[in-house]
Amino acid sequence: MPELPEVETTLRGIEPHIVSKSVSSVIVRQKSLRWPVPVSLIQKKLKNKRIDNIKRRGKYLLLESSKEHLIIHLGMSGSLRISDKEHIKKHDHIDICFNDGTILRYCDPRRFGCFLWSDDLDNHFLLKDLGPEPLGNHFNGEYLFKLSKKRKTPIKNFIMNSKIVVGVGNIYASEALYASGIKPSSQAGRVPRNKYEILAHEIVTILKKSIKDGGTTLRDFVSGNNEPGYFKQSLKVYGREGKECYACKTIIKGQRIGQRASAYCPNCQTRF
Ligand SMILES: [Zn+2]
Repeated sequence: MPELPEVETTLRGIEPHIVSKSVSSVIVRQKSLRWPVPVSLIQKKLKNKRIDNIKRRGKYLLLESSKEHLIIHLGMSGSLRISDKEHIKKHDHIDICFNDGTILRYCDPRRFGCFLWSDDLDNHFLLKDLGPEPLGNHFNGEYLFKLSKKRKTPIKNFIMNSKIVVGVGNIYASEALYASGIKPSSQAGRVPRNKYEILAHEIVTILKKSIKDGGTTLRDFVSGNNEPGYFKQSLKVYGREGKECYACKTIIKGQRIGQRASAYCPNCQTRF
């Protein structure tokens, strides 16, 4: 599943190919994504208009045109790439075509992604309740600690809640908790302040490292025929249930927390 680093890498990959260019047409071959794509609205808003800017908010990509925005989410399996007219594949649902022949092509086999239009981004239902960006200035251990008070929810769910902080998915939550020595099922309200300082630091470090590693796949966004491959992670705990902990050789345990698979080292990660 595309996580924040993949979305950020996608942004950096497509930005130089679409910003400041004018849209000639929008072709929608399949409009049944997570929500129906408002095809004629998007076509009307973008035709002969320039893409002024592209930003990321959480895992949403925001293409700005005339102060309004196309909101794109990659869902479970979506990807964007720069392409040409040829080589349309089965799950290539949407093309944004530019005057100079560039095509921004959206592929999404499982169709959980979204393409929506907003003339009032701050009040959009997908964005208005989002917490701070983990790589922004408002995210730190003190912030997490303050919000955690009296919360009985497992800390893993707490940091994966997009109202608390955006873009910390299952992989990054698991890895950051391992790096911080916190057991994922610990009650958020019982984890001490100094542990939150470490946790916030680890979340930032892991996300930054993944974005940096993702830079090596940037060329995949313009390959035309291939979908951009999401980069391989160097994972220490996620998906390693039953294997030895790299630090202490204890067997990594699996546990379901809030319907999601979790993995942790019973020796390195402490319960609070
Ligand atoms: Zn261990």
